[in-house]
Amino acid sequence: MKINTAEFIISNSEVSKCPNEPLPEYAFIGRSNVGKSSLINMLTERKKLAKTSARPGKTQLINHFKINSNWYLVDLPGYGYAKVSKKTKAVFQQFITDYFEKREQLVCAFVLIDIRLEAQKIDLEFITYLGETEVPFCIIFTKADKIGKSKIASNIAAYKKQLLANNWAEIPQYFVTSSSEGTGRDEILEFIDGVNED
Ligand code: GDP
Repeated sequence: MKINTAEFIISNSEVSKCPNEPLPEYAFIGRSNVGKSSLINMLTERKKLAKTSARPGKTQLINHFKINSNWYLVDLPGYGYAKVSKKTKAVFQQFITDYFEKREQLVCAFVLIDIRLEAQKIDLEFITYLGETEVPFCIIFTKADKIGKSKIASNIAAYKKQLLANNWAEIPQYFVTSSSEGTGRDEILEFIDGVNED
């Protein structure tokens, strides 16, 4: 897919205020610092597209970018933990869960995972939430340039093992990416193209 146009449309925290168009939507989400803005800019070949909407005050919003006038790339806020007494509790803000539970245009979520790290509890919890909510999703491993090929393979194998241990019968489709090297760009855009054509 060639990206001809990529424009920022709107930021908001209410699903009802998201663009009212029947275009397919692909949402990008992950822990903060996972490389989401870099990936969005790499995919769209726009150096500052994601940063534009990451102005202070806008980081905690649902950001809609219209691509080639025929699909939306949706940049969602990172998720985190709340301290509840001595325990930590995963918190997915209400408007984010609203988005996943109500947004009819949503076709697929991309969950970003830093390939260098062992499976993080909060990511596994989020993936479980998506599964329970029956949201189709793929995994995008980020920052692949930071480790060698054999480490990439062993980390992915370890991740698969973790998912299987978390009751996943099969592994979702995944992509290995590096925003600094452009790795994975063609594969992700081809995947989106394929789904849009179905
Ligand atoms: P966000 O908070 O998820 O939007 O993360 P950013 O895109 O702002 O990236 C966080 C940090 O990781 C920045 O310092 C980026 O330069 C760095 N980073 C992001 N993606 C990559 C990548 O593919 N390779 C390398 N080496 N660094 C990356």
